[in-house]
Amino acid sequence: MTEWGLVNSLMVIIKSGSEIAAMRQAGKFVASILEKLKEEIKPGIKTAHLEMVTVHELEKGGVKSSFKGYHGFPAHLCVSVNNEVVHGIPGDRVLEEGDIVSLDVGGIYKGFHADAAITVGVGKVSPQAEKLISVTKAALVAGITAAHPGAHLGDISATIQCYVESKGFSVVREYSGHGIGRQLHEEPQVPNFGFFGEGHLLKEGTTLALEPMVTAGGWRTKLADNQWTVLTADDSLAAHFEHTIIIARNEAEILTIL
Ligand code: MG
Repeated sequence: MTEWGLVNSLMVIIKSGSEIAAMRQAGKFVASILEKLKEEIKPGIKTAHLEMVTVHELEKGGVKSSFKGYHGFPAHLCVSVNNEVVHGIPGDRVLEEGDIVSLDVGGIYKGFHADAAITVGVGKVSPQAEKLISVTKAALVAGITAAHPGAHLGDISATIQCYVESKGFSVVREYSGHGIGRQLHEEPQVPNFGFFGEGHLLKEGTTLALEPMVTAGGWRTKLADNQWTVLTADDSLAAHFEHTIIIARNEAEILTIL
């Protein structure tokens, strides 16, 4: 049964126990695929290889990709390298020592989506790249900590923004986290910038994908010629971490975890 909760005039879907169970299962699959992909990252591999591994793992788990065909997206996996923020398309690009690679995987199990992303270095990366990765990862953790019943959506956004900017980096503003469930993107949007105490009140049973996208330069982005891949406008490095979470009784539970 799907319960609809009216939260500040926004229709946020409150998930039932069986729906959460399906999302937890989808989340485990997504997490396991990301673990597998992480092991494959090394200098000299093509990003198309990562797509192949993803397709194989999805088939093995009986999970459908959330991304393939979504608004026409051509792959099962997003691979975004260096100045690519999100929505990179796997292909002939060869990973080089020092690159940073964002891997974004979405899976559907029993009709429910889970969505997660990580950024990893290829071989040895620069100290700046290493810092960018660790700050983005920590920003996601901070955002998850701010997500609990009674908190405002803006608390998540502001927590992520304040943390990232205190480290000298920027949050991308043109793309956001989102509600997730039967649809890959549901209400509400979860921007990575905002104000404490503003926005919708979070209610138990709400499922969200939090996903700080962080750049080493400015926050503006541009679209690549393929009309999909989002690039930093100033060609600075970008990192991306994402978890699907549920607002549980007292705190958030991460669903995209093994
Ligand atoms: Mg997402």
